[in-house]
Amino acid sequence: MEPNLNDSMDAELMQALYENHALQEQIAMQTQFMHLLTHQLATPLTSLNGSVHLLAEPSLGMEQRQEFLTLVQQQIHRLEHLLQDLVAIRNLETGILETHPVLFPLPALVEEVVEAFRPYSITYQFSPDLPEVWSDRWQVSQVLVNLLSNAIKYSPNGSPIEIGAMPLSAGWVQAWVKDSGLGIPAADQSRLFERFYRVKHSDRQNIEGTGLGLSLCKLLIENQAGQLWFESVHNQGSCFYFTLPTVSRGNQL
Ligand code: ADP
Repeated sequence: MEPNLNDSMDAELMQALYENHALQEQIAMQTQFMHLLTHQLATPLTSLNGSVHLLAEPSLGMEQRQEFLTLVQQQIHRLEHLLQDLVAIRNLETGILETHPVLFPLPALVEEVVEAFRPYSITYQFSPDLPEVWSDRWQVSQVLVNLLSNAIKYSPNGSPIEIGAMPLSAGWVQAWVKDSGLGIPAADQSRLFERFYRVKHSDRQNIEGTGLGLSLCKLLIENQAGQLWFESVHNQGSCFYFTLPTVSRGNQL
């Protein structure tokens, strides 16, 4: 039977409505992104402005001058960090970041990354039969750096951190970074991977960050065809897990 004119018009209308809805959602997301970014830029800029004004004061003593200079350095560092994370996310989302998967042993990469965090106490739990992983070595190193610096940052008591990995099902390895630090309140857990999302709890109000690290880690792991997730109990600690393939995957870049 021939499709009648009304049917094809309905289909076109449905398609247009669907596209309009998708566009509206995209615009809403962009607006929210701009709102959050503005907030992230405003805080260090206000602080920089204040410090620079005070530094211009001729009567300022050497000690105070040094204090304000340290503040300026901290805020510049914060802006640099924000820019680095934003560029990395943009490059991943637009496909600019080239991915070069190779076969490599994860424990060797972990040891290299951990070197930069010494003398913090870190223990290893690697299965003896751990297969090599098929991933982009640099991208996985960025995930480890982010997860490890979070584990340290949110463990103000200096409690030890564990990094481990074991074979999962055929073709997969599961790795983790575990701490016994502040943990994540249950109410915040579902939003943790959102861009710019930071936990607002008095136990971490003086800990600096951009709220971009975990969303970047998630994108990087998914770029290897793996998954990233966590388990956490507030005031007890957190464990971030991720999987990596041991062989080339069709859906991997
Ligand atoms: P940032 O650390 O820059 O705020 P992230 O995206 O890395 O941003 O983390 C988002 C939030 O998740 C943080 O604000 C922090 O409260 C919480 N978080 C992340 N990792 C941990 C951890 N290991 N222990 C406790 N809280 C964590």
